[in-house]
Amino acid sequence: MLIDSHCHLDYYTEAERPDVLARAAAAGVGEMVTIGTTLAQSRRLPALAEAQPNIWCTVGVHPHHAAEAPVPTAEDIAALTDHPRVIGIGESGLDYFYDRAPRAVQQDNFRAHIRAARLAGLPLAIHARDADADIARILQEESDNGGKFAFLLHCFSSSRGLAETGIRMGGYVSFSGILTFPKSTDLRDIARDLPANRLLVETDAPYLAPVPFRGKRNEPGYVAHTAKVLAELLGLTPAALADLTTANFRRLFRKAA
Ligand SMILES: [Zn+2]
Repeated sequence: MLIDSHCHLDYYTEAERPDVLARAAAAGVGEMVTIGTTLAQSRRLPALAEAQPNIWCTVGVHPHHAAEAPVPTAEDIAALTDHPRVIGIGESGLDYFYDRAPRAVQQDNFRAHIRAARLAGLPLAIHARDADADIARILQEESDNGGKFAFLLHCFSSSRGLAETGIRMGGYVSFSGILTFPKSTDLRDIARDLPANRLLVETDAPYLAPVPFRGKRNEPGYVAHTAKVLAELLGLTPAALADLTTANFRRLFRKAA
């Protein structure tokens, strides 16, 4: 069984969702995590998760939305995790490619989510784009000043240096459909070299569909295509890769037992 560790099920309509979920089941995707992007939307996700036995969710404010409302306190974010289906914090982080919010606000928002992850004892899904140095610096500062926290570098497409920093700090790395793109040679080399017990797979659906669906709308069932590429890189059968990434998922997302 595969688990899609990061998707956005609320971006499909109510009418579309049953078919999306049925196709995921048919593709061997047994569970999935639908991700918080604003606090208001995060409050609605537990109800979406409860509608099915195999959907989990996280709560948090995406860097794109960091300036739309006052930056929440860590306590505000952590309070939203008091529900059996809420298994993580995020997604949060830094996006200096789109720069939809001022960088100082993105950084405050990111730090609040790190503290919430520590308070709640749950992992943080980190969004990192064109911000490797600041992501690494803030992870290190928060760890030095406040202590350890669990985290996942989601939809990893950053530098080898950031992957290695994350692993050294005890973090996990999740690969999306980008791993299957012909030009992603460096990314595949990084995936091959990281410790196998820290790797997860995800779709980030409805974005970033893997080959052979590139350019189409993505959905959780397509995580099997990313998993197949990762299995080939690691010299594993698809079944062994599914066992590995599912065990890694349960070790990181301890509440999803
Ligand atoms: Zn993201």
